[in-house]
Amino acid sequence: MKYKRSQILMLWFLPLITLGGLFNPILGYLVLAMMVFFLTLSYFKGRFWCWNLCPRGAFLDIIMSKASFKKPVPKVFTRHWFRWIIFILFSSFLMFRIIRTGGNIIAIGAVFVSMCIVTTIISIVLGVATRHRSWCMICPMGTLQDKIGRMSK
Ligand code: SF4
Repeated sequence: MKYKRSQILMLWFLPLITLGGLFNPILGYLVLAMMVFFLTLSYFKGRFWCWNLCPRGAFLDIIMSKASFKKPVPKVFTRHWFRWIIFILFSSFLMFRIIRTGGNIIAIGAVFVSMCIVTTIISIVLGVATRHRSWCMICPMGTLQDKIGRMSK
């Protein structure tokens, strides 16, 4: 499998946020900055971020593609309603956790770090058990980029 140079460059943000974030939760704001960037980008270029720049996408392509059993992805992953349920669950949980921080800057950063860790673990489990990019079929941020990209057209 051939990787893009941009993916190799971006890959390093994943350990920086998931491991570095455990020691310095402020690194969680990188997730927020990336979200603002790719949601804006998706208006013009759809899911360009996913295939070229996303650190987790790069990790799944470069590392997990070698560890995957390459089994069929559950059919439900292709259903729109299922993707939106995952989106609503993840975003509500994220909002709930941010509200609970009471506005504490460090705690908000830690929320983003922990969400990144949890979703990365899920993507690894799914990637091994099915196809390496199966998480991307239901990733809430992928669903949102898809929607914004379609709306702009
Ligand atoms: S679907 Fe999610 S995890 Fe996959 S590349 Fe896009 S933003 Fe990254």
